[in-house]
Amino acid sequence: MATILGCIADDFTGATDLAGLLARAGVHVSLRLGVPETPPEDTAPFEVIALKCRTAPVDEAVAECRAALAWLKQAGAERFFWKYCSTFDSTAEGNIGPVAEALMDDLGAGQTIYCPAFPENGRSIFMGNLFVGQQPLAESPMKDHPLTPMRDSNLVRLLQQQVTRPVGLADRLIVARGAAALGDRLAALKAEGVAHVVVDAVANEDLGIIAAACREMVLMTGGSAVAMPLPDLYRRDGLLPADAPSLKAPDLPAGAVVLSGSCSAMTNEQVAAYAGHGPSLRLSPLDLAEDGPVAALDWLAAQPLDSTPMIYATAAPDEVRAAQDKLGVSRAGEVVEQTLAALALAAFDAGRRRFVVAGGETSGAVSQALRLSRLDIGTEIAPGVPWTFATVKAAPIAITLKSGNFGDRDFFATALARLEAS
Ligand code: ADP
Repeated sequence: MATILGCIADDFTGATDLAGLLARAGVHVSLRLGVPETPPEDTAPFEVIALKCRTAPVDEAVAECRAALAWLKQAGAERFFWKYCSTFDSTAEGNIGPVAEALMDDLGAGQTIYCPAFPENGRSIFMGNLFVGQQPLAESPMKDHPLTPMRDSNLVRLLQQQVTRPVGLADRLIVARGAAALGDRLAALKAEGVAHVVVDAVANEDLGIIAAACREMVLMTGGSAVAMPLPDLYRRDGLLPADAPSLKAPDLPAGAVVLSGSCSAMTNEQVAAYAGHGPSLRLSPLDLAEDGPVAALDWLAAQPLDSTPMIYATAAPDEVRAAQDKLGVSRAGEVVEQTLAALALAAFDAGRRRFVVAGGETSGAVSQALRLSRLDIGTEIAPGVPWTFATVKAAPIAITLKSGNFGDRDFFATALARLEAS
């Protein structure tokens, strides 16, 4: 089916977040890891391209996003969404503004909106100021972010530094009056030459109003939440057939594996909770640095295909620190990531077709090892973490990529059960 909405996300977890929220409406969403190298084929009505350009040099970010836009246009999309972080992670140079301006130029768009709000997750915008929970952005922990320290809470000011054309504000008083009033305000601002409009949102209802008012804009920009109402609006507009099929899980042979490289507090609990469900093997970065992955690969090869082994490097903070002190932070991370990636490939070669992966960086390493380029979004396991379906060496697989603190204690078992049931 031709693509209706083409989305570009500035990082992988942001892309999965957006793809998952869109899929909640029961529509088919396909997530691409990087700009596909081949022309669009077998596309979904909602396509999301995950890039890694949040902190790239501006020129690189702009070039990559323009390439993504060109691919999405080829896929048939006529509306586009530029997704960035709900804390507006950027610097005085960019990349949020420069990318938006480049996309607007390529699309001939006279105006776009900026709405990173996600009230449910404590990100709200009032009078142009972004709040993280009850704190203004510039007083939140984001003020000390190593790459994108946010030292101003005012999005109009932040954005004006990044773009060449005027920035304006549609405040909460306008949004509260409904979609028609917001539409009028945007038109009035456009007549004044305001190309970039920050839009306030402090509650979920605001996002519905904003999406309704802006759904015909060729380009919208923001966090994932403001895109969430779009599938239902498109259905109402007749753009998306009411009975457009959502995605079904492929038929998969038995065989699953759990791979965990996250050391977050929640993942530590999840690993402990899963022990006993199947055979498990704990990886030690020190042993891996010394002896390589062979012992772990041999262990996996010895596990029956109808069991679900768990292999984890997940450890408590003091153990992580001890390994890092001996090996250095990056080497400790690398040996674990490389081993889990090799194990994923070995599990696939042994016939396992369901993968539960914990850890953001770990997910990146596993995705690369399996050469994943496209993930079709399936059922949601926990808020923000769906099952996804992909093809590896012409065989269908199911994989869920969970970063950091996502999911509850029983996430691993729940994930496997949810897949059976779907
Ligand atoms: P999260 O999503 O929780 O941040 P990531 O996979 O992104 O998880 O990051 C965890 C990092 O810690 C990875 O680079 C991983 O290889 C590394 N790591 C995992 N286990 C250990 C350990 N026991 N000691 C040191 N580093 C580890």
